Amino acid sequence: MTRAVLTLNAGSSSLKVGLFPATGDAALATGLADRIGPEGVLKLKDAGGTPIAAAPGDISTHAGAVRAAIDSFAALYPDLQILAVGHRVVHGGDRFEAPVRITEDILQQLDRLSPFAPLHQPHNLAGIRGAMASFAGVPQVACFDTAFHRRHPWVNDAFALPREMYDEGVRRYGFHGLSYEYVTSRLAEIAPHLAAGRVVVAHLGNGASMCAIQNGRSIASTMGFSALDGLPMGTRCGQVDPGVLLYLMDQKGLGAAEISDMLYKRSGLLGLSGISNDMRTLEASDRPEAAQAIDYFVFRCQREVGAMAAALGGIDALVFCGGIGENSRLVRARICERLGWMGIEIDHTRNAANAAVVSSEVARTTVMVVPTNEELVIARAARAAAGLTEDAA
Ligand code: AMP
Repeated sequence: MTRAVLTLNAGSSSLKVGLFPATGDAALATGLADRIGPEGVLKLKDAGGTPIAAAPGDISTHAGAVRAAIDSFAALYPDLQILAVGHRVVHGGDRFEAPVRITEDILQQLDRLSPFAPLHQPHNLAGIRGAMASFAGVPQVACFDTAFHRRHPWVNDAFALPREMYDEGVRRYGFHGLSYEYVTSRLAEIAPHLAAGRVVVAHLGNGASMCAIQNGRSIASTMGFSALDGLPMGTRCGQVDPGVLLYLMDQKGLGAAEISDMLYKRSGLLGLSGISNDMRTLEASDRPEAAQAIDYFVFRCQREVGAMAAALGGIDALVFCGGIGENSRLVRARICERLGWMGIEIDHTRNAANAAVVSSEVARTTVMVVPTNEELVIARAARAAAGLTEDAA
């Protein structure tokens, strides 16, 4: 009998699926359904990372993609028993500080948070409803991207807007919490003296943010009310002057849907370069617009490392993760280039090798690369819901 937990991470048109054993960190299989809709595709890998064939299925909906992934996993492990399902949920509001076992009442509470994350939350909840239908009676757990930040100080929770806006939930929630939770737990294993100190984690991927973490706890983050604020991203704008939005409405006559499309899908690296949202493509391009987009990304990262270090009253370690943070030696080196004043100094040989520690021997501040693993954080929460302890199995 292969006893396992399932992890589901549903985006607007994509779905990541993971199958994890009852204990241990390595996935038994993973899947990514992309462009969910008429042209949806499902790609799967086995425990060794080798691509495997997907079972025939309809990838035009999230529920169809979940079904096809599960059928494929069942073909790989014919004696598969799913003990629990863990879900990534983007918004837990001001209430959820930890993973929660999903009931009909919890689902209704999460539904009420959809206006805060209209592009993501409804898809997360559709994934949960699909899994509840497929696995009746199996524990389902919601893991929140906002939870890691819930106890940050009030000055990092509020905007300087009229008080009633705060009271109705217009707050700096912060996101990428599952990634920060994983990196924090990993740091406690590999560098406990740093984990107990002041750490800035830079999650740089297609989505990007930074978090100031003191002794394992989030103090401040670059993302705020939505996943748009802070750093520029693949297609999202990052921080902009709110006056720009007033101009777009008043002078250009744009409505909420058009502005949302611009800020979420046509800005960031794609908007600046006019070429691509993908850092690899921009690094390989010799067009000046590509170089400018990278310059802007690097500059905003440098500024925010400074801001996060100020929130912490200093910095003991800078940790890179996410697709860009883990793989782009160029972006890491360029961000660190101007941070010598905070004791940051890159060792170029280590950096070129994507080593775990990429700072020089003599640097006052340690710079590290810690590959993130949001799926494992969800799997651990699912195991806990199934009553599995790390040494059960
Ligand atoms: P993620 O959303 O975490 O999967 O990260 C995706 C981003 O990581 C994209 O912009 C990729 O171009 C970037 N990325 C992945 N590998 C590399 C690499 N070797 N060099 C530069 N960027 C990379």
